[in-house]
Amino acid sequence: MANITNTQIAIIGGGMVGAALATLLACARTTWKVTLIEAFPFPAKDTDAEPIYQPSFDARSTAIAAGSVQLFEQAGVWQQLKQHATAINQVHVSDKGHIGGTVIDKNDLGEKALGYVIPNAWIGNVLLNHIQQQSNIDIIAPAQVKRLQPKQTGAALLIENEDENFTLDCELAVIADGAQSPLRKQLGIDVEVHNYQQTAIIANVAFDQPHNGIAYERFTDQGPMALLPLGESEQGCESALVWTQPQDQAERILALDEAGFLAELQQRFGFRLGNFTKVGKRDSYPLELLVAKEQVRSSIAVMGNAAHFLHPVAGQGFNLALRDCAALVAELAAAFDQDLPLGNLDSLLRYQQTQENDQLATIRGSDTLTKLFSTDQLPQAALRALGFIGLEALPVSKQWLSMQSMGQAGRRVNLQ
Ligand SMILES: Cc1cc2nc3c(=O)[nH]c(=O)nc-3n(C[C@H](O)[C@H](O)[C@H](O)COP(=O)(O)OP(=O)(O)OC[C@H]3O[C@@H](n4cnc5c(N)ncnc54)[C@H](O)[C@@H]3O)c2cc1C
Repeated sequence: MANITNTQIAIIGGGMVGAALATLLACARTTWKVTLIEAFPFPAKDTDAEPIYQPSFDARSTAIAAGSVQLFEQAGVWQQLKQHATAINQVHVSDKGHIGGTVIDKNDLGEKALGYVIPNAWIGNVLLNHIQQQSNIDIIAPAQVKRLQPKQTGAALLIENEDENFTLDCELAVIADGAQSPLRKQLGIDVEVHNYQQTAIIANVAFDQPHNGIAYERFTDQGPMALLPLGESEQGCESALVWTQPQDQAERILALDEAGFLAELQQRFGFRLGNFTKVGKRDSYPLELLVAKEQVRSSIAVMGNAAHFLHPVAGQGFNLALRDCAALVAELAAAFDQDLPLGNLDSLLRYQQTQENDQLATIRGSDTLTKLFSTDQLPQAALRALGFIGLEALPVSKQWLSMQSMGQAGRRVNLQ
């Protein structure tokens, strides 16, 4: 593994975003030499291998928007991802204890599904296996990039694995090492941070009525709660819960026994899915909004959580990052076809410009939703009731929201 000394595109971090980017790059130009460096070991080379646990591919499930499905189809991995994907037929949005509410239905939009829910562990197995089968991708794992040194053209990465330290030269280094991104810090790239003082509790929960492919987005005075349908059929009686709470409340709820947890969930969510009967392993994630002030420099691009870490309220973080990846791939392909170095700053700036509006709209949208819907104070409560009523009354604004949440807000990108 250490005998790789140079590559065209080095991706630092093989989480959801690094792995997805490698997958899109591999399909865009088969002659590109791509190297992925990941701190955790890769799974064995077959899709039935046990799920690997690392920061991205843990016990969560992810709502994949229809726009992301189109990208995965182009990259040739959708057929496999689909094996454990649950279609979202409707999204029910409601505000507990207040008037208003709205339903977004796949039939109103003429779509097969509004999106799909897929366990992260399955996404990991499919993407990491696919990457291992690509002849134009080298994998260095487990190994850590300790330093990134920009050069006149390209960059040099100092890599450490169990046995040795070595250097990898590249034309372009993509930093996809997560929200805390040590490499972003090392390069002196500042971030804007807003701490929501909230924690997301996640768990799979079972109930006694079929979910019928309905995702619930319920706003409570303590914070938003989402229940995303799981299981291969609409008759499934399991959903992935993302329950946002103030930090102290989250600690209390996490410490409850199963019966106590289910009782509190029932009281907060109500009986639309009947009685909650079981809760699986519970995990928690502190929530903040983090946005890098620079995303590109000559030979460097910052992507995924390292570039923008969003509140999971609208299930947008990964979908936005995937649209970023597709836009970057399109710019790199254009540079490559003109014999330009892949790390040339003009191409990277064009990529950033292409994604600017999409990023701003998505970041602002999820931030506003979070702030508007995490309080019981009168002005905000009145505003959000009006918002819901307005949304129902104005099909155009509802459709805009639907398109945004389906991940079709950005331009369509042809990867080849
Ligand atoms: C509770 C919750 C629910 C969510 N639900 C949704 C959803 O439904 N839909 C949606 O679109 N988004 C959702 N998201 C957002 C989504 O999870 C993130 O967008 C995604 O995980 C970002 O992945 P990443 O690869 O950028 O970062 P990470 O997941 O942090 O991965 C970074 C990777 O880099 C590796 N690494 C770190 N440092 C180094 C180094 N020096 N060298 C080598 N490797 C390194 C790590 O091991 C890791 O594998 C949710 C987020 C949360 C918290």
